[in-house]
Amino acid sequence: MSQERFVQVVLDVPALPILTYKVDEGEPRVGDRCVVPLGARRELGLIVGLSDHSDIDAKKCKPYQRLINEITPLSAQWLKFTKFAADYYQHTWGEVALANLPQFFRSKPGPRYIASLARLRTPYKSSKAKTAPRLTLNDEQELAVETVKKHCGFGAFVLHGVTGSGKTEVYLRMMDSVFEKNPQAQVLFLVPEINLTPQLESRVRAHFPDKEIVTMHSGLSHGQRAKAWLAMHEQRAQVLIGTRMAIFASVPALSLVIVDEEHDLSYKAGDGIRYSARDLAVKRAQMLGIVVVLGSATPSLETWANTRSGSYHLLTLSRRAVQAAVMPQLRVIDPRHSTLIKGISTDIVDAVKDCLLRGEQCIIFLNRRGYAPVITCTSCGWLSKCPHCSTYAVYHKDRARLICHHCGWSHPVYRRCPDCGNVDLIPMGAGTQRVEETISQLWPEARILRIDRDTTQRKDAAEKAFASVHAGDVDILVGTQMVAKGHDFQNVTLVVVLNIDAQLVSANPRGEERAFANLMQVAGRAGRAGSRAEILVQSRFGDRLIFQALAAQNYCLFADRLLQERQGECAAPFVSQALLTADASDIDKALEFLRLAAQQAEAIRARYTEFADVTVYDPIPMALLRVADRERGQLLVEANSKARLNRFLRLWYQAVVGLKSAVRWSIDVDPIDV
Ligand code: ADP
Ligand code: ZN
Ligand code: ZN
Repeated sequence: MSQERFVQVVLDVPALPILTYKVDEGEPRVGDRCVVPLGARRELGLIVGLSDHSDIDAKKCKPYQRLINEITPLSAQWLKFTKFAADYYQHTWGEVALANLPQFFRSKPGPRYIASLARLRTPYKSSKAKTAPRLTLNDEQELAVETVKKHCGFGAFVLHGVTGSGKTEVYLRMMDSVFEKNPQAQVLFLVPEINLTPQLESRVRAHFPDKEIVTMHSGLSHGQRAKAWLAMHEQRAQVLIGTRMAIFASVPALSLVIVDEEHDLSYKAGDGIRYSARDLAVKRAQMLGIVVVLGSATPSLETWANTRSGSYHLLTLSRRAVQAAVMPQLRVIDPRHSTLIKGISTDIVDAVKDCLLRGEQCIIFLNRRGYAPVITCTSCGWLSKCPHCSTYAVYHKDRARLICHHCGWSHPVYRRCPDCGNVDLIPMGAGTQRVEETISQLWPEARILRIDRDTTQRKDAAEKAFASVHAGDVDILVGTQMVAKGHDFQNVTLVVVLNIDAQLVSANPRGEERAFANLMQVAGRAGRAGSRAEILVQSRFGDRLIFQALAAQNYCLFADRLLQERQGECAAPFVSQALLTADASDIDKALEFLRLAAQQAEAIRARYTEFADVTVYDPIPMALLRVADRERGQLLVEANSKARLNRFLRLWYQAVVGLKSAVRWSIDVDPIDV
């Protein structure tokens, strides 16, 4: 009798353990996929183990139905990494491993599978990249590159460099030394925004004209993503530039991971498996014994704490790389002591006027899109609330609609107050559209461009818009965070920041930290080539440390102070956190569920002495209570170490699953909004 064989398979299904299937045919390998029966359904599974016995009765064990082995199996390294991520973020292995494959590879193969696979393998058209002249590195850049080059094994390096200090050039040279050692090596280069990939991509291509470079982000079609994924998986491509999703790519010869703008919030997934691509990048590098480089002008406090404790190595670029470039001078203007024209101080108006006269470019930054955040009735005080959320619907003048930025609800703007019939409805506050309108009234002859999510919906719109700024076809650029990030504008000498106060006074404990990062980033767009540059901030809080630190471009001053405060308060990053969130049709149901979950947590604490120091807080309603007709509550738990929190969560997760509640819930490990 021939030996029976079995495979262990994971599926993209919550709370489902590893399943065993019988092998009837074929030569399955760990890392191959297969189609398996699951009840009445057929599902795509990933083979994570082989064995010659089954834990369950071999007769009950069903055979798999189709082995998918036309591509190289996923590597043991990749499997180990996804397993880690699953355990860490409290999901099943299958959820993490399969959900993060491109759609083509996580679907059951159709009749044209083989033909499609062949098409995915067609080579990329060789784009003739013009080779860039090689710059001579300055001493700080040189030191950074050499330090990493000499390093063996795992190392997490923080490249802290002011904007324009030549971080990108340093990344390229670090890649050089990786390829010198092994021309077949592969590099993973994470960026926060898809808008930054084209610019970076052309720079990387110019530096490595004979390497294959592929990108991965949400702007690509399923086909393009699958093609890029396969090119990395089969090692036909050496460099993958991508947004957070790229951290899960299969990169068999991974030798270096770069995370640019590592502080950026977009590295943290907001729903589904709430992973941090930045944190996973460090973990992945550690598992492989390679170097990870985290670059930023304003590293996150977590990262900064790690450099201060010595777990990460700090590399500093303290000045701008281009000789003539200067850091902009800061002026904070208090709107209470200043004449305002439509909400903009005359000092700012004058500065913009001067900038235009000099023929230079100016950026006006505010973090709020739309025309006005709310409209109100002058007679009865009615406000444009969203009917589905506990927030206001934003007035979008160009579309003559009220739009909720949280749930997408939209309604034609009212001509009369829906409550009292009064026709006098006025917008309150200003978003980018209104500022654009104001400045085009002030400077009708200026070429004004607005860049925000609304103006960049169409494919390539953002790329074209940024290109026109680079080409000098724009005098004043108005925009949200999108304008603050990454771009190397040559002729911008003035940056104006409106409405940063909302962030400074927000209840979010990280409000100030984020405001600082925003300010440093946007300030970094100015003075990249020229000799003078200015940043004007309209704020009522000019005496705060944040502005001292910004004036001195002194991130360390700010970050060290903030860390000291956090340590005093035993707040993150000095404590590890997880958040259980729940939503229901009304908050009482959500809170009731969270209370039961809290009891389970307390029971675990009582049972294991190890968890004596785990803190379970009271369930509370979220600050933004209702979104899309769901009311939301949260429950925070904290522990002194990540490892202990993880062990606790594993037990707790099972207990919460056991509650079998109809309430929708999820766990967010290392939440960023607590
Ligand atoms: P960052 O990524 O830190 O914002 P970049 O790498 O984009 O900075 O560099 C900013 C500018 O300085 C770019 O125009 C780049 O070509 C230039 N640059 C970088 N390193 C050098 C160098 N060693 N010598 C001259 N120019 C440099
Ligand atoms: Zn009214
Ligand atoms: Zn809404």
